[in-house]
Amino acid sequence: MEGVELALSGLDERVEEKQVRFYGSRRGRLCYVGAGRKTKKEILACTIGKDDLMPALLNHRGLYRLPWTLPDNAISWLEPTSACNLYCDGCYRKNDPDSHKSLEQVRKELDIFNRLRNTDGVSIAGGDPLTHPQIEKIVEMIAADGQKPIINTNGLWLTKEKLVALKKAGVSGFTFHIDSKQQRPHLKGKTEIELNELRLQYARMLAEVGDISCAFNATVYEDTLKDVPEVVAWGQKHIDIVHILVFIAFRGGSMRKGYDYLVGGKKIDMAPLPYAIHEERQISIMSTDVVETICSRYPDFQPSAYLNGTERPDHFKWLLTTRIGTKDKIFGYTGPKFMELSQTFHHLLNGSYLAYTKPKVHARGKSMLLLAPFDKGLRRTALAYLHDAARSPALLFRKLHMQSIMIIQPADFTRSGALSMCDGCPDITVWEDRLVWSCRMEELINFGDWVRAVPTNGDPNASKP
Ligand code: SF4
Repeated sequence: MEGVELALSGLDERVEEKQVRFYGSRRGRLCYVGAGRKTKKEILACTIGKDDLMPALLNHRGLYRLPWTLPDNAISWLEPTSACNLYCDGCYRKNDPDSHKSLEQVRKELDIFNRLRNTDGVSIAGGDPLTHPQIEKIVEMIAADGQKPIINTNGLWLTKEKLVALKKAGVSGFTFHIDSKQQRPHLKGKTEIELNELRLQYARMLAEVGDISCAFNATVYEDTLKDVPEVVAWGQKHIDIVHILVFIAFRGGSMRKGYDYLVGGKKIDMAPLPYAIHEERQISIMSTDVVETICSRYPDFQPSAYLNGTERPDHFKWLLTTRIGTKDKIFGYTGPKFMELSQTFHHLLNGSYLAYTKPKVHARGKSMLLLAPFDKGLRRTALAYLHDAARSPALLFRKLHMQSIMIIQPADFTRSGALSMCDGCPDITVWEDRLVWSCRMEELINFGDWVRAVPTNGDPNASKP
């Protein structure tokens, strides 16, 4: 088969011209393999569906499979409350204003993590954790255990004073959830791009206080997918103070025709689950769709590491890209070997896989280039950087920053009714002394066990489109 490597930006026109013959990949690079055989429609018809076509854009075997597992993971997920001061479309948790856990309960859950799981960072989520009256104390407890406390918040109740108090307590980082389908007071109707202004306010607030990792996450919907490249470009413009961008494909518990929903062999009504949605809503955005969209702006965008699905080894449930550059130019992307080195060395030295890194490490892009002999991505990045520095020596005196972009594709419904979860899920939390998926905890709360979808009359093809 004749192989022609192409930037994905060119791919769309070729689809339009119906000249596309086959999608494929070589050693994990996005590429186009030509040999005029099929139109896109024909490919779609001959494959099982989009699910099977899209992973072919990236070869998982050419990327680094993150080493995270149930007992040994970069992150654990603590929910000290399920109270929230906002409504976000797609939230997995029922908002309960009276759900603050006591410090004893929190201590007990942290002890369960410490007993069952090596962890580098603890995401403090909810609900919104800033609604918990003892949030500083919770941060202190995690830091005292030698782990990195990361607050996942919508930011609404974050003031400068609160931030200073949380830093004193030992907070390592914040992940701000900001997107256009939240009911933010005074910001209703703002687009993803308009919300960059709000993102910048939080990034600057953290930078002023200093030494706190700054991440932003946004849920991606069918109608906001197109805005992702603009948010990625905004991230580059602030690469010195924004360390991580996270894009999460919208998902929900789809109530599909042709399935019964069972718990312990008995049919249940999914309606009490906050994430139960009717099947008309689109929940089919894949990580590779997000990659493809980003490539329209950054054609050489290159992920390097992933977590697969429990039902699909070639699905990218967590897909990690790290880029190196300045506010003006991205010189390149780290490769799989760099990711492997950073995870392995962190584990050797600290006994846990690496989660969030300090801002000063993100500012050491130039030192990271010294690892170029081990990693192809870094070699390409170093060459691009030296090429520009030869023409403009002032570049040698500028800092190079690293910024990570994580794309998350949560639970996928398969035709057999099984859910494909993230294999090595980092967002594992505690429910009744057990480690469980945080994204499905409402099933345990409402029904006492996981919900299983079973095709009506045992027919796994019952809902075939
Ligand atoms: S399985 Fe659910 S909770 Fe775990 S990482 Fe995936 S989406 Fe998050």
